[in-house]
Amino acid sequence: MTLPKIELHLHLEGAAPPAFVRGLATEKKIDISGIFDDRGNYAYTDFWHFLKVYEAATSVLTTPADYARLTRAVLAESAASGVIYSECFLSPDFCGGRDVGAWREYLHAIREAAEEAERQDGITLRGIVTPIRHFGPEKARETALCAAETAGDWLVGFGLAGDEKVGRPKDFAWSFDCAREAGLRLTCHAGEWGGPDSVRDAVRDLRVERIGHGVRAIEDPALVDELAEAGIVLEVCPGSNVALKLYPNFRAHPIEKLMERGVKVTVSTDDPPFFHTTMAREYDALAEAFGWDDGVFRQIADTSIRAAFCMEETRDKILKRLEKAHA
Ligand SMILES: [Zn+2]
Repeated sequence: MTLPKIELHLHLEGAAPPAFVRGLATEKKIDISGIFDDRGNYAYTDFWHFLKVYEAATSVLTTPADYARLTRAVLAESAASGVIYSECFLSPDFCGGRDVGAWREYLHAIREAAEEAERQDGITLRGIVTPIRHFGPEKARETALCAAETAGDWLVGFGLAGDEKVGRPKDFAWSFDCAREAGLRLTCHAGEWGGPDSVRDAVRDLRVERIGHGVRAIEDPALVDELAEAGIVLEVCPGSNVALKLYPNFRAHPIEKLMERGVKVTVSTDDPPFFHTTMAREYDALAEAFGWDDGVFRQIADTSIRAAFCMEETRDKILKRLEKAHA
């Protein structure tokens, strides 16, 4: 599908093409052959194993220059799928070990690569810092300080990624308060592995305006109403949920029900090569499962850009491109 797309939920390292990671591993003589299947794709058994494979893949990325190359490789894939605006999760945990000075260097390299992609492929990228939940609240504080120091027109948001079953959202309240005070907009992974209560906790304790996934809210009708009323935006990643067996197939995914109940939904790929997906494939699979036409996807793109964390000037520019494409 060639419609222009907006993506709000993408982990930069999780979007690394396997061939790119293998190339870097060979250059650096790091043996990570165990994380690939015989066709060269990432291989894992369940979500928790996926996190391990993810961290092994990430281990080959050790310098700002590696991240610049990664950014170019990822944005080339996104642009080929018709994405014109993207927000990606970045982690000072992986970029410089939570040292502010080192983090600034990584960020600079990523940003420069993104600007080159914008000139060449017409795709705009903005960053959201995410501490890793299973690294614990103390490390999250250091990550939040890195984010606060670099908040601005490019680094626009703060979130929480990693294993949703470790700890509770309120353990991270200090970090989210710190990010909010620095002017960052907030999102949090919830309602993927945790049930509806995890969504409720994230909204109440962290005061986020978007939820990463959040799809399990569907199990609690009162919560669905609350999300609709508060205008909380869900960063829905259907292909990711199906690949990790949260739902057996696209048809069984609650995205359409959530939309019908008035919840603002957007569509993203999460960690596309891990889940054998792309934005184009997500759109195709949704069109096939639910019979959605261009009008529905146009509405999703519109919801997405309005929920984007970028500055108004950038939003207006992207909105104009959407209007032109749909004229
Ligand atoms: Zn995610």
